[in-house]
Amino acid sequence: MTSKQDVHRVQETTEINPAYLEDASGLRGHAERLFVPEDEKGVAEVLQRATRERIPVTVSGAGTGVSGGRVPQGGWLISMEKFTRLDIKPGCAVAGAGVLLRDLHAAAAATGQFYAPDSTETGACIGGNIGTNASGSRSFRYGATRQHVLGLRVVLAGGEVLHARRGQPVDFPLPSISIPRTTKHSAGYSLRPGMDWVDLFVGSEGTLGVITEAVLRLLPAPQALLAGVVFFEEDNDALNAVDHWRATASPRMIEYFDRPSLDMLRTRFPEIPARAHAALLIEQEIEDEDDPEIARWLDRLKQDQALVDDSWFGISAAERERFRLFRHSLPDLVNETLRRTGSLKMASDCAVPVPGSRGLS
Ligand SMILES: Cc1cc2nc3c(=O)[nH]c(=O)nc-3n(C[C@H](O)[C@H](O)[C@H](O)COP(=O)(O)OP(=O)(O)OC[C@H]3O[C@@H](n4cnc5c(N)ncnc54)[C@H](O)[C@@H]3O)c2cc1C
Repeated sequence: MTSKQDVHRVQETTEINPAYLEDASGLRGHAERLFVPEDEKGVAEVLQRATRERIPVTVSGAGTGVSGGRVPQGGWLISMEKFTRLDIKPGCAVAGAGVLLRDLHAAAAATGQFYAPDSTETGACIGGNIGTNASGSRSFRYGATRQHVLGLRVVLAGGEVLHARRGQPVDFPLPSISIPRTTKHSAGYSLRPGMDWVDLFVGSEGTLGVITEAVLRLLPAPQALLAGVVFFEEDNDALNAVDHWRATASPRMIEYFDRPSLDMLRTRFPEIPARAHAALLIEQEIEDEDDPEIARWLDRLKQDQALVDDSWFGISAAERERFRLFRHSLPDLVNETLRRTGSLKMASDCAVPVPGSRGLS
């Protein structure tokens, strides 16, 4: 950053746009400098310099986090927004840390493939998704981000670049930490003897290094998808339906909305049936629009006391997008309300083991 040839490699400023100093939680921080590197060498230079000067560095993705992870409390901030290289191949994508999740989804779809992690906020970037081991409504079926990372390039504090491939074990002894048998687990480092480098960095929130690029698994896109928002008059009926559908169907998504959530959503979706007090959002892979699974869903709805005629179903991309927006609107409305009232929302999810499930880490 001092020599002429480095001038274009890293933008550096002390006049920091306040948007960089907060995330979606509303938590505000402060930093002495913001660095926006253009390439891996630029990242290495910033980290070497920070290490030399003993200055803490916070890594910034798209700032959609809700727990203040990218909000600096002093020191330097490094933004990965320029790392937008995206290369889609059969079975995998090579994505820069700054690639937005929605751009990865779109590019994969254009090749008949899909990236399974579907964190609701698609404006998040891949570096942030990996840094937080993001999960989403499809995680019950496909697992969180961790299960889909095949390789990583990471710049370490001393400026060295680590190229970690899935299966390459770490070269130092590790304690075994008991991990709950939940389908989702993102708290702390995922430590166990024999673990690989990739697992060490996934979910490490920028504390061990700066991820610059990732190789991500892509799956063949399902031929068709049935999606729906199923409404219920009673909470208990919705919860019983979850148990039933888990055993009899193989949805890739089941998400529950309670009464206060639906009441909040009515401000944006007045078409929510007045007598609905609970809802389940579902998505199921099907062959085509003649798949007998569609009729089976109708039977399930009747059997489980759903409001059959008032529920929403669709197989087109536009209908799925409407349901995605419905789902996305809930955290969005909560965040909006809290921001309006000047409150903070430091959020985290809570997972419990599901009986009969083998659990993932
Ligand atoms: C409306 C809404 C819905 C959401 N839904 C979900 C959801 O369904 N599932 C979910 O898991 N989360 C969800 N989130 C939270 C958020 O979107 C995720 O945590 C996301 O992964 C953050 O990505 P980001 O790019 O915005 O990261 P940031 O907020 O910028 O950073 C998050 C963390 O990752 C670290 N980080 C960022 N980039 C890198 C990098 N290149 N190398 C190393 N560390 C890095 C940061 O230091 C920080 O600790 C939601 C948020 C909102 C506002």
